[in-house]
Amino acid sequence: MNRKSRDIERRSRLLVDGRRGAGPVVYWLSRDQRVHDNWALLCAQQEALIRGRGLVVVFCLVTDYPGGEQRSYHFLLAGLAELARQLAELGIGFVLLRGDPALALPPWLHRIDACTLIGDFDPLRLKRQWQRRLLAEIGIPFIEVDAHNVIPAWIASNKREYSAATFRPKYRRLIDDYLTDIPAVIRHPHPGPAASPPLETDRLLGEVTGRRAGPVNWLVPGETAGKAAVETALNDRLPGYASRRNDPCGNGQSNLSPYLHFGQISAQRLAWRVSGAPLAEEDRQAFLEELLVRRELADNFCLHESDYDRFAGFPAWARQSLDEHRGDRRPYCYSLAELENGGSHEALWNACQRDLVATGKLHGYLRMYWAKKILEWTSEPEEALHIAITLNDRYSLDGRDANGYTGIAWSIGGVHDRAWPRRLIFGKVRFMNEKGCRRKFAVDDYITAVNLNHRRDRF
Ligand SMILES: Cc1cc2nc3c(=O)[nH]c(=O)nc-3n(C[C@H](O)[C@H](O)[C@H](O)COP(=O)(O)OP(=O)(O)OC[C@H]3O[C@@H](n4cnc5c(N)ncnc54)[C@H](O)[C@@H]3O)c2cc1C
Repeated sequence: MNRKSRDIERRSRLLVDGRRGAGPVVYWLSRDQRVHDNWALLCAQQEALIRGRGLVVVFCLVTDYPGGEQRSYHFLLAGLAELARQLAELGIGFVLLRGDPALALPPWLHRIDACTLIGDFDPLRLKRQWQRRLLAEIGIPFIEVDAHNVIPAWIASNKREYSAATFRPKYRRLIDDYLTDIPAVIRHPHPGPAASPPLETDRLLGEVTGRRAGPVNWLVPGETAGKAAVETALNDRLPGYASRRNDPCGNGQSNLSPYLHFGQISAQRLAWRVSGAPLAEEDRQAFLEELLVRRELADNFCLHESDYDRFAGFPAWARQSLDEHRGDRRPYCYSLAELENGGSHEALWNACQRDLVATGKLHGYLRMYWAKKILEWTSEPEEALHIAITLNDRYSLDGRDANGYTGIAWSIGGVHDRAWPRRLIFGKVRFMNEKGCRRKFAVDDYITAVNLNHRRDRF
């Protein structure tokens, strides 16, 4: 077996076998929305070459995805339009189906007499439900590929990890073997179905039900723009990352999470580039810790903890401690609507919320403070979790992501953290407040900047 086949094989698993049809190989693309550096597409192409078949990529558009808004669909659809054009140049078909994949895919696969189905790995509940229902219907082999993580989530660890400290050593043992260059997808030699018409993104956007968060214009969607954003990050943002990343006024984060969330860039390609870039070693290591260990730990949590977005998913010490503090008096208690409108008593929190609503991205350090205040200012932890997830998924371009559910569970429920000295409401969950933020960065400058940006970027 050559190196490429081995690399594809160890990122893939046959979930169900069946009788191959006489038609093309199909890649059901969902989490990894890119042409290049995509192990799932490479796997599909390899299967098509071995069988001498055409190759088609299919995407199922669900216009009422939970938390999905005009903002996120705008990013997604623009990326898909570019992807369809790039695939056509490579002789690979693209088809957009509408609705629940478990209902839309089986009759279509049957109609084209599909040979084999390849699909993206995704640890989130709804995606796994789609996949489970689909597998019962298709009757052809289905191969799942983890093209999102550098080390496939099922290989990195086979259980829910307690913290980064337990995950890191396992991850480090494998990473040098997995962090390689990625082969190129080739022009496909076997004809597939006739080319689809270009995607009518504006019309499709009109069908999306979420109307609270409009598109943003500071970040250009798509694979080409994602690659350019990687270059900007390497040149301008990662030098100094170790010291600047926690300063929301310092432009010290890469801003790549929306591209990573939609799979418009490959985390492996990014990590490969960072590994070889002329960066200070402390910046390189600090960035790779977030991109690899923390990001893939989030997938580990969502894969192995079915309650990743519920109180029941918090560690026992945190549940017990939060339970003991349910009766604590809460001087401030806000509703979802009050918080959504940035109507708390704290100027910094309101600025965070306005920033999130206006731009679709809140700085990583502020995300922790933002979520912890929601715990402090709502009636119970379950309500805090619901509000934080609703707002994060609704307004963040990178929301609806394993990283989001894990980051919120860390902030509100101590997931991957340890017990801290007991406090009112928080119990032993780590506390954060505005005073702490003032020790870290120029809070008033941030509030002023948000107010100015907010006026400029209002949609
Ligand atoms: C309450 C809360 C909510 C969050 N919601 C999301 C979310 O919806 N989507 C999301 O992608 N991330 C989320 N995070 C994690 C983190 O804050 C973001 O990944 C990061 O701020 C994205 O900005 P960046 O790409 O500029 O980050 P950079 O600092 O440049 O990091 C590069 C990449 O590393 C990964 N990364 C960085 N920090 C973390 C982290 N703490 N955990 C896991 N991966 C990390 C991300 O993929 C990120 O894009 C959340 C964290 C918290 C505390």
